[in-house]
Amino acid sequence: MQEPFSVLFSLCNLLAHKWGLRLLRSSLPANYPFLKYYLGFGYCGLISWTASIIFHTRDFNVTEKMDYFAAALSIFYGLYYTPIRLFRLLDDKDAGRKTEKESVLRIWTGIVLIMYVSHVSYLAFWRFDYTYNMLANVVVGIIQNLLWSVFSVYKWKQTRRTWAIWPGLIVAWIVLAMSLELFDFPPWHGMLDAHSLWHLGTVVPTIWWYL
Ligand SMILES: [Zn+2]
Repeated sequence: MQEPFSVLFSLCNLLAHKWGLRLLRSSLPANYPFLKYYLGFGYCGLISWTASIIFHTRDFNVTEKMDYFAAALSIFYGLYYTPIRLFRLLDDKDAGRKTEKESVLRIWTGIVLIMYVSHVSYLAFWRFDYTYNMLANVVVGIIQNLLWSVFSVYKWKQTRRTWAIWPGLIVAWIVLAMSLELFDFPPWHGMLDAHSLWHLGTVVPTIWWYL
């Protein structure tokens, strides 16, 4: 096993998603419109962290690609469901606007799907460009983080409820954890490096997200 701590912390993330999926199923009614989108987030998490466990166990060309493509899947999925949730694209309270929302949802699904397929195709068939890959993930990540932060501020002003600031805090936590990647240091005992701590850092916000 090449990077035991990255494997261990990836496993913690995997278990957090497994636990979260069970929580969603037991606490939300089966006909709750957003349920399948939340479950989708959980399944993307399972795929990403499984790929991460495999990659950090053995770094081969194929395991590296699987890890990058699976991680992008989760990040692009985050971009996909965020506006669906924030702009309530599934709400049919105002029946007159239902079809309008349905077509927006369909177009948005198409756009994100094309973005993800192009991203993976470029890396797989054109050039495995590390700089582009990181930039794409950071940009897609920042867009959804900004959306959630603005939502948090807006909801807080509106409701003054504690839950309203949760998304903002989760986003801040993730950004802080991600900054570990920038402060790279020599691995402690050749094992515990900044990248593994980044994986450790996402466990708590994952659990928090499901709450
Ligand atoms: Zn990793």
